[in-house]
Amino acid sequence: MTKFTDLGLDQSLIDAVTDLGFEKPSEVQEKAIPILLESETDLVALAQTGTGKTAAFGFPLIQKIDSDSRTTQGLILSPTRELCLQITNELKLYSKYEKNVNVVAIYGGASITDQARQIKRGAQIIVATPGRMKDMISRGLVNITKIDYCVLDEADEMLNMGFFEDIKDILSDTPDEKSTWLFSATMPREVSTIAKKFMHSPKEITVGAKNSGASTVQHEYYQVSGRDRYPALKRLADTNPGIFSVVFCRTKRDTQRVAEMLIEDGYNAGALHGDLSQNQRDLVMNSFRKKQIQMLVATDVAARGIDVDDITHVINFQLPDEIETYTHRSGRTGRAGKSGISMVLVTRSETRKIRAIENKINQKFLLKTVPTGKDICEIQL
Ligand code: ADP
Ligand code: MG
Repeated sequence: MTKFTDLGLDQSLIDAVTDLGFEKPSEVQEKAIPILLESETDLVALAQTGTGKTAAFGFPLIQKIDSDSRTTQGLILSPTRELCLQITNELKLYSKYEKNVNVVAIYGGASITDQARQIKRGAQIIVATPGRMKDMISRGLVNITKIDYCVLDEADEMLNMGFFEDIKDILSDTPDEKSTWLFSATMPREVSTIAKKFMHSPKEITVGAKNSGASTVQHEYYQVSGRDRYPALKRLADTNPGIFSVVFCRTKRDTQRVAEMLIEDGYNAGALHGDLSQNQRDLVMNSFRKKQIQMLVATDVAARGIDVDDITHVINFQLPDEIETYTHRSGRTGRAGKSGISMVLVTRSETRKIRAIENKINQKFLLKTVPTGKDICEIQL
């Protein structure tokens, strides 16, 4: 059994751990702390909520900063005000036996002047929401050009909340030589984009249930009104030009109708359902395999057993009745270690079904908004 004393932490931090009543390091702490203490490296750590990520970056950060200097050396970005405050409190507990460590929380909805004053007094570590941080940078109230460490906490949540641009701007204001530590429960595409753009050959650790295959699928849901289902589907297709997907409908009639509308609207689509002859079905499947069809609209029965590699998206145009059917649908993507996205269009009243699926598959859905016309214009084809 690994103990906190095996991880390379200073005695003052061990004493703080003892006061906190932590008996042994959690898995993510056991893996991350030695790596972060031993080397100046970038790190991507994937671990579910509640696995102790704060201490996994908090202890190394406190140990590594120079508390004799008052310059800002570490920046932690976190999605919400509540989390900022929580992390700040935790770091204060971790550093209670260290002299002169100052941690300041920066978040919206509170006086910016007060926060600026606190920073001016010398904060080695700033814990901030991206929005307020960007604001303070643009007003010249904070200087992060000399930081050594940048932590992106709950990276998936931050990106899910639309902080992509803010994070990019903030990171471009930091020095290239710093170390970046990214903590996240999941690894959706935007998170890997940030990692690719701003991190240098990061070490990677993953903690917890890696139920093979399923964990490479990201689940998303979009709230739409019933009659907006079809326009939403088109917008999702428009924002994902390389899409290679199966679109699931509940009935043969809907399947045929959606496929026809897509074809009429100029998409490479095809229908697959039980009212077609075997010959027609073979033709459709062959075109799909050759990727001449990008969107295969199908019923569950007809799609059973489809084993096509490289499917990028499974789209639930309508949710199935059975949760198990959802699992089968989403399992069409994210195969052979590749990542995939399973999207669900739901009306407001159907959102509780999402919660039921989450419980069953033990994975959280991201709530996304249907892309607007503007988003579609901005993507590069
Ligand atoms: P995460 O960021 O992964 O969601 P947190 O860092 O917020 O998780 O920690 C979740 C809870 O577990 C907190 O209440 C924290 O105090 C507690 N905790 C963290 N590490 C340990 C540990 N090694 N032993 C016992 N409790 C811990
Ligand atoms: Mg956390």
